[in-house]
Amino acid sequence: MRRVRAAVQVIVLSLTAAASRASQPPIHRASPPSKRTTSGAVARPTSKPGDAQASSFAKLPPLSLTNINTRKTVALRLYDSSGTVDEQVAQKLDSLLCDARDRDDIQTRTIERRLLQLVYRAAYHFSSDKVEVVSAYRKAVRKREGMHAQGRAIDFRLSGVAAPTLAAYLRTIPRVGVGIYTHPKTQFVHLDVRDQSFHWLDASPPRRHWREMNIGSKALIALDAKYSPKDDWPEGTTPPTVRRADVTK
Ligand SMILES: [Zn+2]
Repeated sequence: MRRVRAAVQVIVLSLTAAASRASQPPIHRASPPSKRTTSGAVARPTSKPGDAQASSFAKLPPLSLTNINTRKTVALRLYDSSGTVDEQVAQKLDSLLCDARDRDDIQTRTIERRLLQLVYRAAYHFSSDKVEVVSAYRKAVRKREGMHAQGRAIDFRLSGVAAPTLAAYLRTIPRVGVGIYTHPKTQFVHLDVRDQSFHWLDASPPRRHWREMNIGSKALIALDAKYSPKDDWPEGTTPPTVRRADVTK
């Protein structure tokens, strides 16, 4: 038991260290605090002036997301100044993350908000401001599209971050599916949100699916048990839904 507690302490310490590193945004990318959200609406004054929580979200820069199929790009902040997912922004992301395989019949659906949060969390972790979306929502027709058909999955790359590095980071997050596509012509990471984590790698060429290796382990059960919704928010921020007493000191 003592060893378990010591291990947990080490994990907490390393998470704290990671969070403090991530809480120091590069100066050249810091954005001035804005009273307007990216959607143009005036932000709600949900926090007292000078509140550390508000300033931690105001410091987060917008992310530029490009759907490589439609070549559409948007630059958006996911969170409002109180740290709540901005629903108007999330709906713009729903449109961006559409199924555009048939250009005459583009399909959209609501994308799981936790999935959006984790993409932002990863981008902020690496101080990457560009997300390249290979595929997100895929309408299931003849083929089973799995989590993609449910709006719970995204295949993506982060600028400046190698796919194995991105996948390694995502595998530290509880309750996710993480697949890495390692073929030289794919090199992207699949992320989905689910209750029981599953990690794999796939070396197939594009649009093939012939080799898959489960790289998960029993350790994932312990990782999933530690899940706390506050961990879906960017490192170094205090989510508005978490009571002070619940925040790890
Ligand atoms: Zn995928």
